[in-house]
Amino acid sequence: MTRRFCVIGDPVAQSLSPRIHTHWINRYALDACYDAVQVAAGELEHGIADLLDRGYRGWNVTIPHKVRMLERCDHIDDIARKIGAVNTVAVGDDGALTGTNTDAYGFIAHLDQAQPGWRHGPGRRALVLGAGGAARAVIFGLIGAGVGAITIANRTRDKADQWAAGIADVSVIDWADRNDAVAAVDLIVNTTALGMTGLPDLDFSLDGAAPGTIVYDIVYRPLETPLIQAARARGLPVITGLGMLLHQARPAFKAWFDILPPVDHELMDAIAGEL
Ligand code: NAP
Repeated sequence: MTRRFCVIGDPVAQSLSPRIHTHWINRYALDACYDAVQVAAGELEHGIADLLDRGYRGWNVTIPHKVRMLERCDHIDDIARKIGAVNTVAVGDDGALTGTNTDAYGFIAHLDQAQPGWRHGPGRRALVLGAGGAARAVIFGLIGAGVGAITIANRTRDKADQWAAGIADVSVIDWADRNDAVAAVDLIVNTTALGMTGLPDLDFSLDGAAPGTIVYDIVYRPLETPLIQAARARGLPVITGLGMLLHQARPAFKAWFDILPPVDHELMDAIAGEL
């Protein structure tokens, strides 16, 4: 019987997950399908019951359900618990829901692929702009990769303070001081929504950046954000958000099909063409 998977969210029509997973389903000639299912905020319980009735074996979760999904799962792993959100669910044969979060994996996997030498760099100090859901995944990815000094700057400082309290090696600075922190780091990551199509640009200066400082913008619509353009103009190594998006899908596919698929040029080109 055809195995069914999907992404749930609201809005969900813009999600690239159906394109990514269908690419791999076709590549491995699996008898499966993956689609997008609109589930409105406040409708998660009903939405899950409906998915189970219709025989779905797993799903990805996007805005606004990532935090509520964590509470709804029967089992969650350590990384989802730490991040405080679930983006991937697998349905067991007994109907139990197992949740994980693959964003930290996706962030680091693409950093490893795009800048293979970064783990052996001199200082391995990172500046993370933003303290939303994606920032938490990025920071736990960095901690897991052994980065010893992480500085967070968020517009709403309280949010960063509350969240970072008690996490070793993570410090918080005022949003107003973000430009001053640039000179002391080897990696800068934008996890704010700024620079996305329809939102203002990120107001941030790379003037103090040392040569070789990696600039990683996880925003992927557009791929070439103003921050990426500014970093390119300075000759700094850049990483766009597309790779994280593709790599975070790999462990989900593995959880459902027991295959860890590759992020190859064919897939990158296909998805880049959608952005
Ligand atoms: P979120 O939880 O809503 O967090 C948004 C962040 O942006 C917060 O830190 C917020 O600061 C900041 N922000 C928003 N407007 C701002 C402004 N005008 N000035 C300064 N800061 C502002 O969103 P998220 O889920 O973390 O996602 C953030 C971005 O990452 C989105 O563009 C999303 O598409 C992208 N993303 C990419 C991937 C990928 O695979 N490449 C994965 C996940 C997310 P406050 O706390 O002060 O509001």
